[in-house]
Amino acid sequence: MAELQRLLTLLKELDDQLAGCMKCGMCQAVCPLYAETGREMDVARGKLVLVEHLSSQLLNDPQGVQKRLERCLLCGSCAKACPSGVPVVDIFIKARAIIGEYLGLPPIKKLIFRSLLPRPRLMDGLQRLAAAGQGLFSKKADPILGSSCARFNAPVIRDRHYLPLATTPLHGELGEIDEPAGPGGTKVGFYPGCLVDKIFLDLGRDAIDVLRHRGHGIFVPGEQVCCGIPALSSGDRQGFERLVGRILNQFEDADIDYLITPCATCTATIRTIWPLMAEYLPQREQQRVRRLAEKTRDITEFLAEGLDETPGETQHGSGEKTGITYHDPCHLQKTLSISQAPRRLIGANSNYDFREMGAPDRCCGMGGSFNLLHYDLSRQVGQKKAEDILATGADTVATACPACMIQLVDQLSRTGKSIRVAHAVQIYAETLPQRAQKEQS
Ligand code: SF4
Ligand code: SF4
Repeated sequence: MAELQRLLTLLKELDDQLAGCMKCGMCQAVCPLYAETGREMDVARGKLVLVEHLSSQLLNDPQGVQKRLERCLLCGSCAKACPSGVPVVDIFIKARAIIGEYLGLPPIKKLIFRSLLPRPRLMDGLQRLAAAGQGLFSKKADPILGSSCARFNAPVIRDRHYLPLATTPLHGELGEIDEPAGPGGTKVGFYPGCLVDKIFLDLGRDAIDVLRHRGHGIFVPGEQVCCGIPALSSGDRQGFERLVGRILNQFEDADIDYLITPCATCTATIRTIWPLMAEYLPQREQQRVRRLAEKTRDITEFLAEGLDETPGETQHGSGEKTGITYHDPCHLQKTLSISQAPRRLIGANSNYDFREMGAPDRCCGMGGSFNLLHYDLSRQVGQKKAEDILATGADTVATACPACMIQLVDQLSRTGKSIRVAHAVQIYAETLPQRAQKEQS
């Protein structure tokens, strides 16, 4: 009965938010999915009409509604361009949660979101197994990108080009770190996110080096727990809340001033989606969520703030410059309006010659589970991004989200052009005095 009441409350809230949509269709021009399919049901306006009739649609064809709502990158391009300020992504996330609660989760998703993701040690064991076995079915694809592809036709992987899983996750390598506040008086919690923890370990190490160089004391918990967005975007509110609770417990007693993450998706989730969904939690939990959300900063934003005051890290190297361009992750540029901070970090490394690509904020087509469910469409969107990158003639493309990095590696690796993909913080980390010395010796 309580669950039914909750569903009715959620539906009523959606009705209120939907009232802002004037059906003007301005979201069509910016929707990366609509650009590929030309189908009204793929654009925000079409999906909002569906959500408007959600209560009746749930009775008629709940699976059909679920499928149509899943055809969305949750990129927020529509919300950013909407003249009425309709919170489109918030509406879609809530609608997915309503449908997920109404239909229940398929067993495989239940297993992943409720039994595996909240158990970091079990996840570590699975990672070790998968990492040990990955060489059997992978072959090298691109040496610059470090990508591989499957040796034979594999169902989920298909013909993707991907990066290997690390045998030991970053948190296993680091162990728990709990330093006192640094010389500047600040202590930061570092939350790498799953992809940095399991694939982009170099990025995690670079981020910690830079934070230390800036004089911040660091706290890293001994275990890594997912931020919950894969569960929530699949409609699993319960699984999401469980993961959020685990992270709150990890950072609550660490006395940190900021929570820093190098993953734009994790930053946007903790800062905007956690408070959005906290409305349904008891008062005390809501406060805990809001406290951590308010402390959360994307690492590029955090580092760019002190850029001019930090000596000895902005000029080095005098040789030929490497061409570099930058892709704006949707969760950073559209959700959090952060676009200059990563460019400033890149600009601080004088070894690079920055070249802006056409439409740097066009979605790369990753969209988390969208890439798994609709890979052909995801690739179509991603190929446009790869073409924009290649047109700059740059040797390196930087971005600020590990999920985008996965997609960029896949799309660029297919072109055979060997373009390096890096995070803006990695480009910046190359300017640290110890790195520059190492390069020169
Ligand atoms: S979501 Fe915004 S841009 Fe799209 S049709 Fe509605 S009012 Fe127009
Ligand atoms: S979130 Fe992105 S993919 Fe989804 S409807 Fe809006 S613009 Fe299109």
